[in-house]
Amino acid sequence: MNPFSIAIHGGAGTLLKGQMTPEKEANYKKTLQKALDVGYEALKSGKSATHAVTTAVQVLEDSPLFNAGKGSVFTADGTHEMDAAIMEGKNRQAGAVSLVSGIKNPIKLARDVMEKSEHVFLAGTGAMNFAKSLGYSLEEAAYFYDALRYQQWQELKGTTDFQLDHSKSKESKFGTVGAVACDQNGNLAAGTSTGGMTNKNWGRIGDTAIIGAGNYANNTTCAVSCTGSGEFFIRGVAAYDVSCLMEYKGLSLAEAADEVVHTRLLKIGGDGGLIAVDAEGNVALPFNTEGMYRGMRTSAGKNSIAIYGD
Ligand code: ASP
Repeated sequence: MNPFSIAIHGGAGTLLKGQMTPEKEANYKKTLQKALDVGYEALKSGKSATHAVTTAVQVLEDSPLFNAGKGSVFTADGTHEMDAAIMEGKNRQAGAVSLVSGIKNPIKLARDVMEKSEHVFLAGTGAMNFAKSLGYSLEEAAYFYDALRYQQWQELKGTTDFQLDHSKSKESKFGTVGAVACDQNGNLAAGTSTGGMTNKNWGRIGDTAIIGAGNYANNTTCAVSCTGSGEFFIRGVAAYDVSCLMEYKGLSLAEAADEVVHTRLLKIGGDGGLIAVDAEGNVALPFNTEGMYRGMRTSAGKNSIAIYGD
């Protein structure tokens, strides 16, 4: 049996340390642990890495605490447009959706694109028609509503600004979610889901749905899920870059992940972090922001949840 492991994140944009209360912190940690445990138990019972990341991401999408599924941020038009992607390391199968609305679990739709269509990436109206063809029912806008997200949007509404989770100037509750896993067969998978950025406009798509930028998996190297200012992760092809550094330069998982987050992204001004696993079950969780909601659990007995750089 291969050592197995799972890592999750709830976004690199955390509440600034001074604004975090013990109650809020306990709430975040409880939900992160729940997602981690759901994914870990799946791996323990012999389920695939793909199954583990899908179920873990769904738990985070169902929580209003994170900027994905329920609790997604508002666009400039006051709507929710969500992006998600999933990838398997074995055959490098992938599925992604972008600019979808009303879908309770965009990660599930991304997986359906991978498993039930001939395509990799569906966006907007077409992605919605695909969902309808599979019998998805749509949630009302009220399902996705969250008072703090609405407040964040009110502060930007009518301006051309858009806000990232990691804005230092205000309380920021954004938090793209993701999971990466290595299963008992040594197969890897990565899944990521987001509402994007507050007040985003013009059909803006971040890194989350872009294979190789915010999400990537390859059994011979690693599985990666990113969070941060998406534009930089797209330009840096960040998730794939971690894999490339391992494949072409022989770096370990930890070295490659650190190089991308602490050197390459910073060089172009990119803030954020990522979670990654390799086929031996090793885990890396680097970030260059004040914090990143994160957790990891391995068959070797590690089980931890953290928010700040402690
Ligand atoms: N990467 C996401 C985006 O740019 C935001 C995030 O990680 O919270 O859409």
